[in-house]
Amino acid sequence: MTTTGSAREARTRPVIDLHTHSAVSDGTETPSELVAAAAEAGVDVLAITDHDTVAGWAEAAEAATAHGITLVRGIEISCAWRHSSIHLLGYLTDDDDAELTRELARARDSRSTRLQRMVALMAADGIPLGYDEVLAQVGPGATPGRPHIADALIANGTIRHRDEAFRSWLGDDSPYYVGHYAPDPVRAVELVRAAGGVPVIAHPFTRTRSGALDDALVERMRDAGLVGLEAYHRDHGPEEVARAQALAGRLGLVLTGSSDYHGEGKRNRLAENTTAPEVLEAIEAASSGVTEVLRP
Ligand code: AMP
Ligand code: ZN
Ligand code: FE
Ligand code: FE
Repeated sequence: MTTTGSAREARTRPVIDLHTHSAVSDGTETPSELVAAAAEAGVDVLAITDHDTVAGWAEAAEAATAHGITLVRGIEISCAWRHSSIHLLGYLTDDDDAELTRELARARDSRSTRLQRMVALMAADGIPLGYDEVLAQVGPGATPGRPHIADALIANGTIRHRDEAFRSWLGDDSPYYVGHYAPDPVRAVELVRAAGGVPVIAHPFTRTRSGALDDALVERMRDAGLVGLEAYHRDHGPEEVARAQALAGRLGLVLTGSSDYHGEGKRNRLAENTTAPEVLEAIEAASSGVTEVLRP
């Protein structure tokens, strides 16, 4: 133990948080603010993984250099599977890849149409809300999502935190729920791989409407190039962690952990779950190298 230097220097193992959001999707902080908050929280390696977009990468890269932390550029792709949504993290993809870029743009367009439909259903039922109010909550070029409906309801004084909106109106089981275009999970794995990136299933055992993620699907995703499962996540209890460990052992997958931080939009705190350095090395080794881990 050293008596001088920062807590970060005194530690032997780096703190690695591989899944966070900025205001470029449904986080509440700009990419620079996210990176600053991560540095402040003692994170050594941060992944920015906004929903269906790479729009925050450049700003995050600049901020990571300024704050002296390592940045892993990634995305979180929503995938459609049997009426529920499975999330796939894609690390270090080539942001020039035409197929992946097209697919993400298609998903973002469909997300706008879908929010408009959800708002119409809610307004028809007397919930005080207009689509223009929702649009006012979406940053320029940001991926629109249900949390922006919640933000509009906070802005007009109906509720105080996003949680309340998800409990009452926005959950997957809600009568106001409308889906959006999203690729099939096996195809999403193929797209990430074809773009030189590394696919990892985000919070694989989060309870969804149909609890759709079965072992057979994970095996098909593995055969398509899946590299890991995000086992250590606040949506997982000991049972889900054990299930992820057993499945990863059987299929030869790595296990990651993260905060899934959304700024003030969620209770999740930076670095509340983390990834082992050996796992980060495996992720880096599995990428094509076109998009590199950015080290200070
Ligand atoms: P969408 O991308 O439109 O399907 O919305 C799903 C997103 O909403 C998830 O990725 C979470 O980030 C967010 N979310 C889900 N549940 C909650 C909650 N209870 N409070 C705040 N955000 C939530
Ligand atoms: Zn989110
Ligand atoms: Fe997710
Ligand atoms: Fe997420």
